[in-house]
Amino acid sequence: MKIIMLGAPGAGKGTQAKKIAERYNIPHVSTGDIFRANIKQGTPLGKQAKEYIDAGALVPDELTIGLLLDRIGQEDCKDGYILDGFPRTLTQAEKLTEALADSGNVDLVLDIEVQDDVIIARMGGRRVCPSCGASYHIVNIPTKVPGVCDVCGAAVIQRPDDAPETVKKRLDVYHEQTQPLIDYYKGLGLLFETDGTRAMDEVFSDIVWQIDKVSSEA
Ligand code: AMP
Repeated sequence: MKIIMLGAPGAGKGTQAKKIAERYNIPHVSTGDIFRANIKQGTPLGKQAKEYIDAGALVPDELTIGLLLDRIGQEDCKDGYILDGFPRTLTQAEKLTEALADSGNVDLVLDIEVQDDVIIARMGGRRVCPSCGASYHIVNIPTKVPGVCDVCGAAVIQRPDDAPETVKKRLDVYHEQTQPLIDYYKGLGLLFETDGTRAMDEVFSDIVWQIDKVSSEA
């Protein structure tokens, strides 16, 4: 099963993608995570990507597309994967469709819909663990001990690109460059839209229902 998660930054793509990866035993491929790992390791790609990420802009397609295609060409992706944060531009989507021409396009595109004002409120409270990558929210998913990661005990932080001004910029970028993908995938008959303002488990049940439906029809 090859699945794409679409949705604005902060819509809950990462959280849902991790749960899907676990349930269906497929790799969770997040371009944002790959960039952040490169930034942490100080690689040349990380240095280039950081500039764009900190400004709330997209990393250019030339850096992103090859990286993603390499990743999904690896052995662990041969039976499927869930893409979280890719594609984000029409060019990325078209290149992915082209690359999958022989093996078959993605099976399902899940779009998690959340309005901008809800996103802004959510992202102000998002905290992440810089050490193990666990994700929290100060109100909705708090750490057991305030400020301390439940998984590894490191101090949790706000991602620099979750600062309010950067969030607004990321939402503008989303509406301009990523939202057109909804129509692109609708046109291909692959889109499933779900209301992401509901409780996390409700959204997950809805998604599982859709994945099971698509896989039973395959
Ligand atoms: P995310 O963790 O998915 O919110 O991604 C964090 C940041 O990484 C984004 O705001 C972009 O700057 C960059 N990024 C992640 N995925 C992509 C992509 N597919 N294309 C361009 N930039 C990306």
